[in-house]
Amino acid sequence: MSERIHVMISEEQIRARVKELGAQITAEYKDRPLVLVCVLKGSFVFAVDLARAIDLPLRIEFLGVRSYGEGTESSGVVQITQDLSRPIASEDILFVEDIVDTGLTLAHLKDLFRTRQPRSVKVCSLLHKPARARVEVNIDYLGFTIEDKFVVGYGLDVAEKYRNLPFIGVVERD
Ligand code: 5GP
Repeated sequence: MSERIHVMISEEQIRARVKELGAQITAEYKDRPLVLVCVLKGSFVFAVDLARAIDLPLRIEFLGVRSYGEGTESSGVVQITQDLSRPIASEDILFVEDIVDTGLTLAHLKDLFRTRQPRSVKVCSLLHKPARARVEVNIDYLGFTIEDKFVVGYGLDVAEKYRNLPFIGVVERD
């Protein structure tokens, strides 16, 4: 069985959109310092590109999460495998996500973070698959809405493969 990757969103399209998102975030936070919380692992590529597109004083935190689920479906039960390096009380938090699918992971993380009393919590996701939403989560900054396909690349994997592709693609098997 051979695998090919069909390009869904090109490198150029991603670059242009990330630039726009960065400009929008810069304008909305004005000169307030921001904490980007990169939700590992899938968001690592998006987070570093987004950070460089934002012109604000910011720091980056990495949050390791593991979602218990059946196959490719997340269950919403999220375990923190690596926590932030510092408290976030009274700070403006921006979650950086690769994709919001069922919404369960983000809903859980937003609930958890509320107890740490940040000043604000917003969400920036590169991708959104509304067809599979199980809970409603507000995405404040969104890159692209996509159809219900399993995507890889630009940080996203299948069995740890394809994270290093510079574009978002769909695996085709024949
Ligand atoms: P949710 O809790 O919103 O269902 O799950 C979000 C997480 O599931 C994402 O952060 C990502 O790790 C994984 N995920 C959801 N859809 C896809 C997809 O199409 N491709 C890949 N590679 N991961 C996905």
